[in-house]
Amino acid sequence: MANLFSQLPKMDELLIREKVILLIDGYSRKTVMEAIRISLDQLRQMIRDGLTEEGFSHEMRGLDERIAGNLELLWEPHLKRVINGTGVVIHTNLGRSPVNSEILQQMAAISQGYSNLEYALEEGTRGSRYSHLEEILQRITGAESAMVVNNNAAAVLLILSTLAKGREVLTSRGELIEIGGAFRIPDVCEQSGATLIEVGTTNKTHLRDYENAISENTAAVLKVHTSNYRIMGFTEAVDTKEMMHLKESHGIYIIEDLGSGVLIDLSKYGLEYEPTVRDVLERGVDVVSFSGDKLLGGPQAGVICGKKEIIDQIKKNPLTRALRVDKFTISALESTLRYYIDEELAIRQIPTLHMLVATEQQLRERAENLKAHLEGANLSGFEFNLLEMESEVGGGSLPMCRLLSYGLTVERQGHSANQLECGMRSAKIPVIGRIIKDRFAMDIRTIDDAEFEIIEQALKGLGD
Ligand SMILES: *Cc1c(COP(=O)(O)O)cnc(C)c1O
Repeated sequence: MANLFSQLPKMDELLIREKVILLIDGYSRKTVMEAIRISLDQLRQMIRDGLTEEGFSHEMRGLDERIAGNLELLWEPHLKRVINGTGVVIHTNLGRSPVNSEILQQMAAISQGYSNLEYALEEGTRGSRYSHLEEILQRITGAESAMVVNNNAAAVLLILSTLAKGREVLTSRGELIEIGGAFRIPDVCEQSGATLIEVGTTNKTHLRDYENAISENTAAVLKVHTSNYRIMGFTEAVDTKEMMHLKESHGIYIIEDLGSGVLIDLSKYGLEYEPTVRDVLERGVDVVSFSGDKLLGGPQAGVICGKKEIIDQIKKNPLTRALRVDKFTISALESTLRYYIDEELAIRQIPTLHMLVATEQQLRERAENLKAHLEGANLSGFEFNLLEMESEVGGGSLPMCRLLSYGLTVERQGHSANQLECGMRSAKIPVIGRIIKDRFAMDIRTIDDAEFEIIEQALKGLGD
């Protein structure tokens, strides 16, 4: 054994090997040295664990490959692409909404060089980063004014901080929600410096509950979309339309956190009706906020639309500077919003919408195509079967919406569903699926045709 240790090549010897020199050209000397160190450590461990002479010779023949493999691991990004086979369209853990390649091209052009991010090209003077999105948001939502911050949580914080700091905000007890990732309305309110006054009860809140709670210190009513849950049965909530007279008689603001924020009427496409941002503003709400990467289908962002006087105040709030969006977001959001000028284009081009409106017939056909693809891939010991599934909208949007879908179950001789699930999750490009009735399954709704090949590679790469 001691003998084997001394037979291990030295760093200097390895660095002049032909294949290693090629790696240095591709990655840099320092990184290759790190990979060599890791490789030699692995070999020393194998010797300590009782590697034979024969095994050692085998390892020596494969040493270049071992170094190259370790180098690749060192270089691999931690944040990486995965295939979403869960059928949850707006999957918060998997990055919510994907964007299409047209948008990526525009983002690449903006980020590879300089841009007019804060530069007014016509005047040749300093401009505003918010100017790029304002007009298009006005056009799509009918808002007097609009701006965008980092996410919707930031938007709500900012609105409350601007309009209600040091004053009271009324919210229905039925709307004191928690969104995944610890966004809780009472906590956000507290952070903003506003005092939350709860009104009504969990299942019923009446207009008079708001009215009775109003004092001279009341700044606003905050209406919150109960995104990810519904109370069924004996319930009542107050429509913002009914609140308008509160606004007039008491001089308070009506704020609405719409959560997902839909820009087109999705009920035309077989989904549940949700009031659009335009509908909400037409009811007279002063300011509304919503996410950029939920049903809107764009990048992570928080959009604020409403009265010009309010948006102007928000822009002056020092918090805005801390919550501002970067050029990638502005670029991606502007491109996404442009599709909404033509509803049909939005449905066709925005992946989130496209996946949500897919018909059962289309999904069935695509699941059959995936089955045919995998059956033609020369994999032995596997069995693929079509499965009727139920997808989810996700992202706390349309929680009651049942989306019938199709998928594929994968079974492998001598392997459990859990082993398959783990193996697919550990692939170079991980494939995240579900386990349904003891079988590994992938929902076709959230899988693109271009990803069939990646699924095939993941199956081929499964160990014994
Ligand atoms: C999702 C959601 C938020 C948080 O939005 P992010 O963009 O994730 O910060 C806030 N309020 C409601 C009602 C939501 O549904």
